[in-house]
Amino acid sequence: MHDVKRPAPSSQPRSLFLLYHELRSAPSAYSYVTSTSTFAEHAAFFRLPRAANTLIPRITFDDGHLSNLTEALPILQANQLSAHFFITAGWTGTRPGFLQAHHLRELHAAGQSIGAHGLTHTLLTHCSPAQLDRELRVARLLLEDTLSASITTLSLPGGRFNRAVLDACWAAGYTQVFTSVPCPEPEPLGRCVGRLNLQADADVPFLTRLLDPATGTLLRLERIDRLKTAAKRLLGDTAYRRLWSLVNREEREAAPAGEPEGASSHNGLLP
Ligand SMILES: [Zn+2]
Repeated sequence: MHDVKRPAPSSQPRSLFLLYHELRSAPSAYSYVTSTSTFAEHAAFFRLPRAANTLIPRITFDDGHLSNLTEALPILQANQLSAHFFITAGWTGTRPGFLQAHHLRELHAAGQSIGAHGLTHTLLTHCSPAQLDRELRVARLLLEDTLSASITTLSLPGGRFNRAVLDACWAAGYTQVFTSVPCPEPEPLGRCVGRLNLQADADVPFLTRLLDPATGTLLRLERIDRLKTAAKRLLGDTAYRRLWSLVNREEREAAPAGEPEGASSHNGLLP
């Protein structure tokens, strides 16, 4: 599944793309909800001058939760940071708790980047060629119509991809696809960009270790990700999904259509 050719190592500074989903003021046991106060601590840390030889943190959000605007944007702005928001286009204006069209325009007008996250959050590896084309192409057109801007980036629902999915992405007009494979990225970015899914208990000391390659923290997570990919192959999607829900204390109402992009967690639990 992760057979994408990696560019040769570069002496240029490298980035680490971090993946968030929903922010919430009240505490939640669900691993894919980050508390607003924790995100504020992260943002304040990201704003600090970077130590030599450490990775540049880059922020992304998946799914298009309303809290991206109400909770994350003020914190980003207070810290003069920007993020890349990947939107499940078919949920815009149709699903309570998710961004509506005018919210997307507000985020975009505030200088934040917008990309697509499929049309219905269906795992793209499960789609027929016709479904795949619809998930990719209609999502892009809906977002472009909403924002009157070109949409060229996509993040993969559930992090799932294979060669056919990537080929369909390029054919549908995307030039960059964001995965959930944790790895440092050289600049300029390639066509496939890895990301680390951050779970709720990621704190600043963890981020400090994560961004310093000398600690080996990211390497360890890359190894765990490879093991999880192998587990998915062995178990199949249905059994893996059951295990995922159990381990992440999923709230049924919070993630009704497919798992979040959690290929990775820093605590080593599935996924
Ligand atoms: Zn998602």
